[in-house]
Amino acid sequence: MIRTKKQGLLIVLSGPSGSGKNTVCDGVKKINHNIWESISMTSRAPRKGEMDGKAYFFVSDEEFEKNIADDKMLEYAKFAGNYYGTPRESVQKHLDNGEDVILVIEIQGALQIKKKIPQALFVFLLPPSMSELKRRLTDRGTESKEKVMERFETAYKEINELSKYNYVIVNDEVDEAVSKLEAIIKAEKCRVDRIEEVFLDSPEEKIHEILVDKDLENKVVDVNKI
Ligand code: 5GP
Repeated sequence: MIRTKKQGLLIVLSGPSGSGKNTVCDGVKKINHNIWESISMTSRAPRKGEMDGKAYFFVSDEEFEKNIADDKMLEYAKFAGNYYGTPRESVQKHLDNGEDVILVIEIQGALQIKKKIPQALFVFLLPPSMSELKRRLTDRGTESKEKVMERFETAYKEINELSKYNYVIVNDEVDEAVSKLEAIIKAEKCRVDRIEEVFLDSPEEKIHEILVDKDLENKVVDVNKI
């Protein structure tokens, strides 16, 4: 009865460092196999166990800046002294393939995407409390004391931007946060503005003239045009 957009949904998941974005994203990918997570590029040094091309594409500052100059980044930001960004090409490829693409990124980059692609889905993950956030950042032991404090202070600034997102999830229990994110994605895919065609009994009986948004063409995400 309806035909929905072939193109996948672009999902942006943000939240302070330590809010559990990667854990929640991994949880959703386990239950929803149509989601592809973009692999970011960064100039920060790999942590123990992080593999190039899996956790991130690890590059030098110069290499990152060359990618910016060549317009290969969909968005990028400096966070805690390092570059982080989303390579544009693979995102487009997966969206056009009908897969939903998730970007797990900090807020400056998310806001760049919001300006360029307002129809993307923006979800913000909050820790249960600031003291719990501090505990998680300290306990994970991946950063120096100074870096932990820097990330913690950045968290306050990031939470101030919460209202720019479409949805917020408090991550006090991972399974619950995962199921909320999956529910949000499912609901988003049922939105009327994702319908391309409506027909009554057969494709010949289309009523798309009445029901379909005439502006749909303008809503197709083409990250190469941005
Ligand atoms: P970490 O150093 O802990 O891996 O990441 C630091 C922050 O950078 C996290 O908030 C993470 O979500 C964010 N980040 C990771 N990849 C990207 C990216 O491609 N773009 C932006 N803007 N932020 C990213």
